[in-house]
Amino acid sequence: MHQQTLRHPVEFSGIGLHTGEHATVRILPAPANKGIVFRRVDLDNFELLADVGSVARVSYATTLMSRGVWISTVEHLLSALYGIGIDNAYIELDNFEVPILDGSALPYTEAIARVGVVTQRAPRRYIRITKPFVLKEGEKTLGIYPSDTFSIQYAIDFPHPLIGKQSVEVQLTGSNYATSIAPARTFGFYHDVEKLQAGGLIRGGSLENAIVLTETGIVNDTSLRFADEFVRHKTLDLLGDFALIGQPVLGSLIANRAGHALHTRFVAELLESTSHWIIASTAEVVSSAR
Ligand SMILES: [Zn+2]
Repeated sequence: MHQQTLRHPVEFSGIGLHTGEHATVRILPAPANKGIVFRRVDLDNFELLADVGSVARVSYATTLMSRGVWISTVEHLLSALYGIGIDNAYIELDNFEVPILDGSALPYTEAIARVGVVTQRAPRRYIRITKPFVLKEGEKTLGIYPSDTFSIQYAIDFPHPLIGKQSVEVQLTGSNYATSIAPARTFGFYHDVEKLQAGGLIRGGSLENAIVLTETGIVNDTSLRFADEFVRHKTLDLLGDFALIGQPVLGSLIANRAGHALHTRFVAELLESTSHWIIASTAEVVSSAR
């Protein structure tokens, strides 16, 4: 019910999925009411708040921009912080793309579990959904409905023998995110590799940081982490984009075949649709749960 930050800094190094460039990212404790703030340490500590007003580009990854300064592929890191309930943190980065690590959010959740989380004195302020809010784009749907807790239901349908129709439902409480969503890796199709690389994307992509699908199977020689790892990764991505709301939410999110573009448009339009939610203090949340 109170805001949280991490107890000690944690650090990761690796290459960016799209640029292939090396970067080091450090996540540090931050004071209450600060939110999640990126700092480009290679650009005089230029600060960029992780909120929907900073979203610049979303096709294959979510990129934030302010006054010409970019931070790219933020969604897995933001997903991890939101999923485990970190309200305040500084994220220092020495390049413009967050390293992809193993393609999941597991390195982040494991490292933060090792250093621990600190409860801060300031109470949380929740966005409580009071009226359903739904966006549709062709076959894609994303909606949020009133609820006393925060949960995500995600369904996908890919014409591939290992995927097909998959759906997952998770209550974002306790360690559920760390155990059932964080380990799910990003995935892509082998037949798209050349086209994406020609477009300047996935230059750092490899079997170490993505599940690569052929027409009928996978190229990786390791097994999947979950039979439905694909829909779990979509849930991880949705939560990373939803984190741009900048506040914890009480509502039930239901997604069908959505993607980064719809996720970020949804967050922006939901925040503007002020008749669909109220700001609830911790005390109001406690009394309504009784
Ligand atoms: Zn992803």
